[in-house]
Amino acid sequence: MIPAIAPYANDLWPKLLSSAYRDVDPLLERLKLQGAQLPVDRSSRFELRVPEPFVARMRCGDPADPLLLQVLPLLAERTLTPGLMEDPLQEQDALATPGLLHKYDGRALVISTGACAVHCRYCFRRHFPYSEHGPRHYQSLLEHVAADPSIREVILSGGDPLTLSDTALIKLLEQFAALPQVTRLRLHSRLPVVLPQRVNENLVSLLTNLSVPVVMVIHANHANELDPSTARALAALKQPNITLLNQSVLLAKINNNAQALVDLSEALFAQGVLPYYLHMTDAVQGTAAFLVAEAEAVALYQAITAKLPGYLLPKLVREVPGQKAKSAIPV
Ligand code: SF4
Repeated sequence: MIPAIAPYANDLWPKLLSSAYRDVDPLLERLKLQGAQLPVDRSSRFELRVPEPFVARMRCGDPADPLLLQVLPLLAERTLTPGLMEDPLQEQDALATPGLLHKYDGRALVISTGACAVHCRYCFRRHFPYSEHGPRHYQSLLEHVAADPSIREVILSGGDPLTLSDTALIKLLEQFAALPQVTRLRLHSRLPVVLPQRVNENLVSLLTNLSVPVVMVIHANHANELDPSTARALAALKQPNITLLNQSVLLAKINNNAQALVDLSEALFAQGVLPYYLHMTDAVQGTAAFLVAEAEAVALYQAITAKLPGYLLPKLVREVPGQKAKSAIPV
C-alpha cells in the first residue's frame, strides 16, 4: 500500500526549473564526462534543457547512460535522413483553431504552452510551431470547446502543461471543468518524472478539488527515471479522483531490450502508475538514432508479454496521420 505522502513545497520547482542545464559543458562537467567521449552539438536549435533533479539520476562517468542519451544534443541530429519529416503526424491538418488539435472523436487536445522542463531529443513536436499557439489563444479555444457538445474529454498537452504557473493552470482547468459536456480532464506531463518537485501543495489541491475526474499521463522511458523523489510526487498524486498512467517511447539504446521494459513496468507499478502506451518513435527529422524497426519492436513485445502480467503490459502503438485512434502494432 502506498502511504500518504505530503506533496512538495510550493516554491521549490520554479527555482529548479530556472536553473536547469541549458549548456552542454556544465552538464558534462557535472557528470564527469569529457566532450571528446561524445559528439555533442553545442549550438542545436532545439537546445539542451534538463533540470538537476533528473541529472541526479544519471550515472556519472557513463556516456551511454539511458537518461543522458534522452537529453544530450548530438551532432548526428543534424544529418537529414530520407523519410523523416518535421511534422510526420501532420498535426497541422488536425488544427481546429490555434492551440487546439481535434484528432479523435470526443477528445480535444490543447497546446497549452510550448515550454517543457526537459528537451527530449526524440520529441515528435521538436519542430512544432509553438509561437502560433499557447496562452494567447486560451479564450478562443475555450469558446471552441464550449460550442462543441461532442467534446467530453479535454487533454492538456504542449509542450508541458505543468510548466504553467499554478495560477494559470488553475484558471484553465477550472474553465474547462465548468463546461457541462466535459466529463474528465487529462494532462500529459513529463514533470512528475523529470522535476517531481512540480507536484506541490497547490497542484495537488487544485487537482483534487476539480469538479471532474483527472487522468494524469506521465512519461517515463526507463526504470532509472523513477526514484524516491518521483515516488513522493506520485504518492501525492494518488488521489481518489486522479488516475495515473504512463506513456513511454520505444527508443534505441535507451529501452529497446526486454529487461529494460520489464523493469520499467515493475518500477511504475511500485510507484502506483499503470503502463498505458509504448509508442513506436515517430518519423521525426533529427531523431534517426532512436528509431526501432517494427520487427524488433514486435519481438520485444512478445518477450515482455511472456514476463509481465497483462495489467503491466503497455499497448504497443503507432500514431498514423488521419487515423481516428492510435494504431495497435500487430504482435
Ligand atoms: S517533455 Fe514531451 S513535449 Fe517536451 S520535449 Fe519531451 S517529449 Fe517533447
